[in-house]
Parts: sequence; structure tokens; C-alpha cells
Amino acid sequence: MILALHSLNKVPGISTDVLRKVSQPAQVVCCAAIQIHGCVTAGCVTTQIRRRVKEGKDIMLQIRNIRKEYKTGELVQSALDGVSLNLRDNEYVAVLGPSGSGKTTLLNMIGGLDRYDSGDLVINGISTKKYKDRDWDSYRNHTIGFVFQNYNLITHQSILANVELALTISGISKRERRRRAKEALGKVGLADHIHKRPNQMSGGQMQRVAIARALVNDPDILLADEPTGALDSETSVQVMNLLREVAKDRLVVMVTHNSELAEEYANRIVRLRDGKIIGDTNPYQVDTDKLEPPKHQNMGKASMSFLTSLSLSFNNLRTKKGRTVLTAFAGSIGIIGIALILAISTGVNVYIDDIQKSTMVSYPITINAQSMDLSSILANVRENSARSETAHDLDAVYTNSSGLEMASTASTSIKKNNLTDFKEYLDNPDAEIHDYLGSNGIIYTYDVKFDAYAYDPDGTLVNTDGSDFDSGSPAAAGLAMGSNMNGDISNMNNMSSMNRMSPAGGMMATQENFAELMPGAGEKMISEAVTNNYSVIYGKWPEKYDEVILVLDENNEISTSVLYELGILPAAEYKGIIEKLDNNEPIEIEDRKWRYEDICERTFYMVPSCDYYVQNDQGLYANISGDKAKVDELVKNSLELKIVGVAHLNEDASYSSFSGSVGYTKALTDYLIDYANSSPVVKAQQESPDINVSNGMAFAPKDDQAKIADTIEYLSGMNLSDKAALGKEILKSVYGDNPPMAQQMLNMGEAESAAALDEYLKNPADDVLLMIYSAYISPGSYNDNMAAFGMISLSAPSAINIYADSFEDKDAISSCIEDYNETVGEVDRITYTDIVALLMSSVTTIINVISYVLIAFVAVSLVVSSIMIGIITFISVLERTKEIGILRAIGASKRNIGQVFNAETFIVGFLAGVIGVGVSLLLLIPGNAIIHAVTGTEDVSASLPIAAAAILVLLSMGLTLVAGLIPARKAAKKDPVVALRTE
Ligand code: ADP
Ligand code: MG
Repeated sequence: MILALHSLNKVPGISTDVLRKVSQPAQVVCCAAIQIHGCVTAGCVTTQIRRRVKEGKDIMLQIRNIRKEYKTGELVQSALDGVSLNLRDNEYVAVLGPSGSGKTTLLNMIGGLDRYDSGDLVINGISTKKYKDRDWDSYRNHTIGFVFQNYNLITHQSILANVELALTISGISKRERRRRAKEALGKVGLADHIHKRPNQMSGGQMQRVAIARALVNDPDILLADEPTGALDSETSVQVMNLLREVAKDRLVVMVTHNSELAEEYANRIVRLRDGKIIGDTNPYQVDTDKLEPPKHQNMGKASMSFLTSLSLSFNNLRTKKGRTVLTAFAGSIGIIGIALILAISTGVNVYIDDIQKSTMVSYPITINAQSMDLSSILANVRENSARSETAHDLDAVYTNSSGLEMASTASTSIKKNNLTDFKEYLDNPDAEIHDYLGSNGIIYTYDVKFDAYAYDPDGTLVNTDGSDFDSGSPAAAGLAMGSNMNGDISNMNNMSSMNRMSPAGGMMATQENFAELMPGAGEKMISEAVTNNYSVIYGKWPEKYDEVILVLDENNEISTSVLYELGILPAAEYKGIIEKLDNNEPIEIEDRKWRYEDICERTFYMVPSCDYYVQNDQGLYANISGDKAKVDELVKNSLELKIVGVAHLNEDASYSSFSGSVGYTKALTDYLIDYANSSPVVKAQQESPDINVSNGMAFAPKDDQAKIADTIEYLSGMNLSDKAALGKEILKSVYGDNPPMAQQMLNMGEAESAAALDEYLKNPADDVLLMIYSAYISPGSYNDNMAAFGMISLSAPSAINIYADSFEDKDAISSCIEDYNETVGEVDRITYTDIVALLMSSVTTIINVISYVLIAFVAVSLVVSSIMIGIITFISVLERTKEIGILRAIGASKRNIGQVFNAETFIVGFLAGVIGVGVSLLLLIPGNAIIHAVTGTEDVSASLPIAAAAILVLLSMGLTLVAGLIPARKAAKKDPVVALRTE
């Protein structure tokens, strides 16, 4: 700095004026210094100094033959008509003239606010003909100070901020700005009023603020357009005095039509009429020959960083909080719309997903080893109901064979599925189907066979499947001959087929009270589909293979018959009730209840099916399930199943397909599979694949002779009661056409019947033995035997349930199965049941429609809110046209204006987004209460995801920015003169 001053002083011919400037404001010193070091930043002052240093003349402005015309429609108005005027760099010029004579136009030309049509304005020897916008901006910012008749203060900013504005635009630091603004306000005598707003001041005070603002940049030229036009004479004098003071060290050009004031204060009066100069009291002739021809030189620029414009905008917005909040709020309404619709659609989607998930848990795609094609049956039903509508004439007798057709469809719809191959496909982790599996995945069911026994309160052993030893029910019969075996011998084909269903000679009742709890995905013992829909009310869920849980309905009830079957109620009592029912006697059943603790002290005894096949003296594995003593023995040594808890169905359960009353885990299934597969009977059968190990007969006899031999062997091995039963049946059919004889047969005792059979078969004919073989004896098959023993191959499940989480995924799984069917042969194709597809195909469509509608809503509200934000931004820019004019007048460039407005929309957009999201979140509280009240469920809850909220704020900022871009550009392009004239 010192070096700079030093070098300045050395330059010959430096004017006192320059020295005054140099010794006064720091800015000038800086500029000089920078200039000397060859930098071009704050151009004008520097240019001026250099010029003066070079020429040593006090000429400032040369107006050379300037013309300006305004065209409005047809009318061409000549505002300036060849005006030429030279102005010294330190004088007080008053421009006088009637209204419309072009005074303001001339002032705007000098101030660089307006452009001349022809002529030239030479500033310190530099022609402005080639000036670009930014040169003019810089010129106005650094060289010119404007004072207007109507003050043109920015009303929503404080006095201090108004004065600081010009410095802000030149990019001067905040502290410096503040210091100089205060100093300038002090000079005009308003030091105490700096925090007031313009509308809190008198006209004279406001004009003094305007003068302070014009002077804060220490301009070389002050232009005042009728500064006292709106003031009373007393304040006018004050202002005039102030201007005279100001004019002591700069050029002041003041427009007025008050000639008295002009003559009293100004030292030169220029008169204008109709755009021409008609008088000049102190003309300044320049010898043009001595002057260098005007040359062009670019000015530096008035610079302002984006951060400055952001803080300017922020301060600006802060000074008009109410208005800003309202604008932001108006803009936020669109965002609120989107946010609410987004929240609702999120809630509905979550709900739909939940519904789909819970539906899919109850309705997996099911593939049974033997399946019925439900869809073809349903199609048949539909066809039938359609046919009943097409009534024929009621003129004769017609057939209705729909029943037969139904039966035919039902029988042909039964299909065997090759689940072994299909499981192989499913086990391949690369199979496409794995992409669509739900959280429950694929669950394989195996037909494990076991009986569970319990001791009732009287100590009687009961089989929990409901069968018992005394009543001759299936489990008791060594030979399966039910009460329906009452036909004659011609009916025997039917019976033989019945026999084949229990090939090993014993008939297992299917276990219905015990059921496996659906296993969960992966290592989980129990699926969430179960634990979500059933609650443990005492104890816990079973975890180990020997643990079970009692499952009640939602009222904690369990049917009476099941209670008897499970041995909780005395079996004898139950028998009494059944007897009374048979005799049409009235029954009385009292309500009873059990404490959970007592229930959990009970034990079941599990006998796997294979354990019933015990090797006898002949080396055969005979079924001993009808022998009470042996079964007792088996039960004593059996696996004990402990009840570890009590659960009940939840009231709002979506899944209630647990079918039993006692639930066990997959662990027991696995245990049973292992146990059966390593049992002696299974091992023995595996070693002799051709001979039935339970009766010693060949599975496939070579010829009739072999069949006869098997029959004789079979008959000889029968015990008395079996023999008696068989004898009765055979003899009854033999004497069927002789009723008295048949009646006599029925009245026989066991021993008699057996003896009668022995007598009948003393010397049996071959065809009689063959008939007995085909009707009553079945060697069964290897596979059927293995099934009866409970041998299970893990590769051959009895059913496969495939779970999806959504309808869409389920459909994809269906098509995967279709694809699989394409790749395998006709017989290996899989027939599956997709109940959801059968029952809910329209639901999926509805859900899709709802989703699309919601998307459409969001899109519409997006468009609407964009337009809204755009309009609001546009209006707020329009509203501030005047401010734009002021900013331009004090030197803001077009870019600055754009910047300020962009920064402002940016802030407003952010505010709008935040307000929108905040208000939406608040609205969601009562909104959800209403939704819950209207829908009657808490399952639909609108909620705004955090990511969506963040995106909405960004979106709001983006939208306001884009929407504000056009008006901001428009604002920037606004002619400052026109802008200033706007009220
Ligand atoms: P003064 O300030 O002396 O009253 P002005 O310089 O404002 O006069 O106006 C000079 C002439 O130019 C007037 O006749 C006025 O109507 C016209 N004029 C000024 N500005 C415009 C404009 N933007 N459009 C059209 N005519 C204008
Ligand atoms: Mg005017």
C-alpha cells in the first residue's frame, strides 16, 4: 500500500483532486494499487484516476449529439433531439425544463440506465459506444449515484440495509459495508435511525437516506431527478443544502422544475425544451482538436458471489418473514398434496402387501401326490349352472345327466403327481421359481404314520384317533372287514379293492387330532404364519421332537368328542353318550373346564406304525394293533409326548388352517421318518422285495397254483375270530339265495362259524380258493406295504406347498410350474391347485387398478403443484419489479438480478418443501385416525417414508428453481428505466 502511494506521488502532474481521493477512502487506494500492479478489477475509479493523472484536465463527461426516440405504437416521440453537453468533474448542474422536455431521459443517459439511439457519451475520454451491459453495470455501480424524486428505497429492508445494498453488489465485505453505510448515514444526519424502515420516516428523511445510498460508494457523479419534487419547501432546503455539500467534491447533476431553488444553489443551469438544450449559464467548451479521439475500454465488472446473493436473499427474506412464510406455504400446498397422496398410497400398498402375504400364507400353491383338478370341476359346475338356464320346451320328458357328468369329471380329475421329479427340480437352487418364493418358501409334507395313546381319568388307554379296542372299530380288526361287507359273492370285487387299501392286513385310522405345525423358513421350527395367528396362552411353543402344544379355538374351546378322544374326559362316559344317541335318548352334557397347569401335566404315548409289526413265531411281521395286551406293552415302552403349552387362535387371525388339536413340530416328523426307516419291519421288507413280510405271500404270484397255495397258507394261519368273521361272510354269500339258511349262519357263535368255514373248505375246489384269494386276500404291493409301515423317502413328499408373498409372485410361480411341465413327459406333468387364482383373479385386477389410480393421483398432484409453485414464484417476481429497477440503478448486473432471484426461489423452495413435509406429517395424525375410524381397522396407516420426504424437499427446491428461472430471467432482462417507472 505504501509502495503504491509512493509510486502515485512520483507521477508528474497528479491533480489535487486525485490526492484528495487517494488520501480518503481505502477503496480508491486499493484500486490504484491494483491498477499499478496491472490488475483489472474495480475498473471505473481506476480508469478515472489514470486518465486524470495522464491529462491533468478536469473534464468528466462529454455528451455528443445524443438522440433518443420512444416509439409507442404509431407515435414516435423524440425525447432527446441532438443534445450536446460537456460536464466538468466538479460542478453543480441544475437541469431545468417543463414536464416532458426530456430531463429524466437525459439523466438516465448520463447514468447509463438508458441507451442513446445515436451520438456518443464520452466518459473521461472513453467512448461508451461499444459498452456492453456489464460495462454499464460497473459504471453505474462505481461512478454513479442516483437520487430519485420518489426516493426508490426498498421498503421491506432497513435503512442500513438499503444503504449497504450498493456495496453488497460490488462484493465488499460485510464489516466494511456496515462501517461505510453508517458513515454515509451519519453524514446525512441519520445516524440514529439506521434500524428504521423507510415507511417509518418522513419524506425528507427518506430522501436523505437515498442520498446516503447514492454516496456510500463514493461515486464521481451524483444524479438527482427532482429530489425535492415530493418535499415541502422547508425539507427541500435541507436536501438542497445537503446536495450543495455533496457537490463540493464531485459532479452533481440535478433535474428540477423549481428555478428558484436551482438559481440559489446550482452553479450552472442548463435549460431543456422538447429534447433540445435552449440555454446554458456556464457552458464548457472543449477544444476537441486537443483531445484524443475517444477510445473504447472495457470496465471491470461489479462482482457478487453466489454466496453473497444467497445471504442477500436470505436477509431480504428474513426482513419480510410473514410474506416469505406465506409464499412458501402456498408453494407447499402442492407438496402437501403429493406427500399426503404418497403417504396414503404407501399405507394402502403396505396394507395390500400384508393382505396378499397373509392370503398367500393361507393359500399356497398346493401340489398333492394325488390331486384333484379343482379347476376342471369348478368349470363343470359353472357349465351346469349355465345349462340349467337354457331351458328347453316343457313339452316332453328330458334327461338330466349333469350328475353323471359331474361324477365323471370328478373321477377323471384325479391325477397322480410325480412329486419326486418335481422335488428334484425345486431342490435346484438355480431354478427360476426360487426368485418368487415368499418368506415361507417351499414346505414339504410327509405322511408320517403313528398312533398317539393317552390314559383317560379312569386309567383307560385310549387311542387319540378315536378308535378303541372293544367296539370293533378299524384299529381292532386284524382283517379289514367292515360292516359294509354284507353283499353276496358277486359283490366281492368291491371288497377286494377295499382290502387293497389296507394291504398289510391292518387298517390305520388317520390321525386327525395331531397335526404338524407349519415349519418356518430355514431353521425355524414353526412358521410365522402360525405364531402370528395363534397365541401361546400358557407355557410355550414346542421346540423338541417330544414336545406338543394343545391348540384351542378363539374362545378357548375344544370340541367334546376331541376331549374324549384325547383322554381328557373319561372314555366310558363318551361311550354312554354315544349309546344314548343311538337309542334316541336325550343326553345331558355339563360344561367343564381345566386349568392350563393340569392340561400341561398330561402325556401322550406315541406308537409309530412300524412298531405294530412284530415278528411272530412263523417269522412274519404280523400287525398286532388289534391285540390289546400287546398294544399295552407297546405303549409302556413308547415315546412320551409332553404338552408344553396351550395356544389359541387369535381373534383377528388371517390364517387358521392348523387342522388339529395337538400340534407337533417338524422335529417329530423327522424323528418318525428316521425311526420308521430303520425299523426291523422296514429292513426285513427291503431285504425281501418280492414277499410280503406281514403274511409271507408273494406280491405277484406267478400263476393260479401259487395263488391257491398262498390262500391255503393264509387260511391256516388265521386266528379264531378272524376265521369266524370270514366264515360268516363267505357262507352268507354262498347261501344268499336261501334266507332261512343265511339267517341261521348269522346266529352262529364264533366257534361255530369258524367250524362251518373249516367244514366248507375241507376239500376246497381250486376255483373257490381263487375266489377267496381275489376277494379277501390281497398280497398288496411292496410300495403299499412300505407306506403302511410308515417308511418315508425324503424324495417323495406327500404334498408340496409353495408359498409366495404376493399375488404377482404367485402367478410367476404358476408360470414356472407351467414351464416345468413343458420340459417333462405327459405323465410327469404336475397338476396343482391354486385356490387364490380360482377365487381371486378379479381381486388382483382390482389391486392393480388401485395401484395405477394412486400413481395417477401422485402424478396429477405433482403437475398441479409444479404449476402452482411456478405461478407463485412468477407473481413474487412481478411484484418486485420496482426493486429490480432500483438494484439495476445502483449497479446490479442482469446476472446479479437473476442470481438474487434464483437464490431466493431456492430458499423459498426449501422452505416450501420443509413446510409441506411438516404439515403433511401433522395432517397424518388426524388423517390416520379418520382412516382407522372409517375402515374400522388399524391395518391401513398412511405414512411418509423418510426417503420420500427428502425427495419431496429436493423436488420442491428443484420445482421452484425451474419455475422461478423464467421470471428471474425476465426480471433480469427488465429495462431498468421501465422497472423504475413501475409502481
Ligand atoms: P421529463 O423528465 O422532462 O418530464 P421525460 O424525459 O420523462 O421528461 O420524457 C421525455 C419524453 O419522452 C416525454 O414526452 C415522454 O412522454 C417520453 N417518454 C419518456 N419515457 C418514455 C417511454 N418509456 N416510452 C415512451 N415515451 C417515453
Ligand atoms: Mg422527469
